[in-house]
Amino acid sequence: MSVTLFNTLTRTKETISGSPVKIYSCGPTVYNYAHIGNFRSYIFADILNRTLRLAGYPVLHAMNLTDVDDKTIKGAIELTQKNPGKYADLKEALHAYTAPYTEAFFADLKKLNIIPFDLHPRATDFIPAMLDLVERLIQAGIAYEQDGSVYYRIAEKKDYGKLSRVDLDKNKTGTRYNTDEYDKDDVRDFVLWKAEGKDGVHWHSDHGDGRPGWHLECSAMIHEIFKGPIDIHTGGVDLIFPHHENEIAQSEAAYGGEFVKHWAHCEHLLVDNRKMSKSAGNFFTLRDLLEQGKKPEVLRYFLLSAHYSQKINFTSDALDMAAASVDKFFSLMNRLGRTAKNQADVSPVLAAASEKARQNFLAELADDLNTPRALAVVHEYMREANAFIDTAKENLAAGDHTTILETLRFFDKLLGIIDLMPQAGVSAELQALLDERNQARAAKDFKRADALRDQLLKAGYKILDTKTGSHLEKV
Ligand SMILES: [Zn+2]
Repeated sequence: MSVTLFNTLTRTKETISGSPVKIYSCGPTVYNYAHIGNFRSYIFADILNRTLRLAGYPVLHAMNLTDVDDKTIKGAIELTQKNPGKYADLKEALHAYTAPYTEAFFADLKKLNIIPFDLHPRATDFIPAMLDLVERLIQAGIAYEQDGSVYYRIAEKKDYGKLSRVDLDKNKTGTRYNTDEYDKDDVRDFVLWKAEGKDGVHWHSDHGDGRPGWHLECSAMIHEIFKGPIDIHTGGVDLIFPHHENEIAQSEAAYGGEFVKHWAHCEHLLVDNRKMSKSAGNFFTLRDLLEQGKKPEVLRYFLLSAHYSQKINFTSDALDMAAASVDKFFSLMNRLGRTAKNQADVSPVLAAASEKARQNFLAELADDLNTPRALAVVHEYMREANAFIDTAKENLAAGDHTTILETLRFFDKLLGIIDLMPQAGVSAELQALLDERNQARAAKDFKRADALRDQLLKAGYKILDTKTGSHLEKV
């Protein structure tokens, strides 16, 4: 099945091609723990990855780690000040500073069951490629040196601004930016190689000691890894300008030809309808949320519940709704675990409905990764499956049992929640004890309910009673 995706460059939906499909996703700057907004962007990359694989495309997917920029350098300097004499030089301190955040990033990806990307290039491993890119731009007459730094002269690139459609009339020729990030719509020459004195982290170059600009890092790594144009480049909408605009400018001027066929961007995540910020007190890392008892499978489901091109609002109600949906999925899985299986003929009606649900699910995803509509297909199927089990009075033909289970597992190739479900290891026997305890509680037989609770505790599980039902969790 072919997959279409909205292309920010052309503002139209286009069919993805490539064998393999070469994808580069802007990853984290490893100077602190990633927040839930960052994870929206990583989940978006994961959904793209999973959808293409599900649709039969071979994929080669890279997500970079920015380990040198103003923030990481500041951290490295602080680290050496706190530990005088501990590090041979600032580069060693930089690695020491970024290592735990890099490790935390990978641990967080795992917690949200984001499939590992094929490649995770680190900026500091690609300095020669970055200097080569600077040299090419100087040779082409597009970059110029000033006070030990090298800048990109945007007036030399006739189609500068084609991705963001930024207003070029605001261009102040000859004015420069010396930092990695600057205000939206303010177009100026940007830094490719930034001079750094002895007090900063630096590498030697013909233009003086310095370090790469952030935009330069991605362009050089893409060229070095993929050796040519790539099919899809992803990131959050806040990266369209200036980061991605500058990547295009550098790569096309240095290497010639097209840089990226398809640009894909996901929207912001809001918390209680406001932009997340530390000062507003609505800033959460993934770690914060898990410590608050939020479930990773619920967070994952929540992030899939809105289309990537729409803003998503992180609220306690929205999380409750996601939790209820996840519960329905797990309840059906658990119910299947308890149904009797017999050798009766399989139902052609169920087989046809299951096949249709799979096809519809994939078709919704293949249409610009429409996760909300794909989830609607899952819910419709769960209603049908539950009704089928009702009619069969919990006594299913073995073939029908397999059909439903396999269909749920097919959906999970995208949802990615089964591996995260706390009750994944719960046997039918334990589930039966939990059901009996719930029945006893409903009948106000608290003595019996407590006895069953203790029995479950002895088996190593505690009961979690939530608004949406009871679950077992390993003690
Ligand atoms: Zn980037």
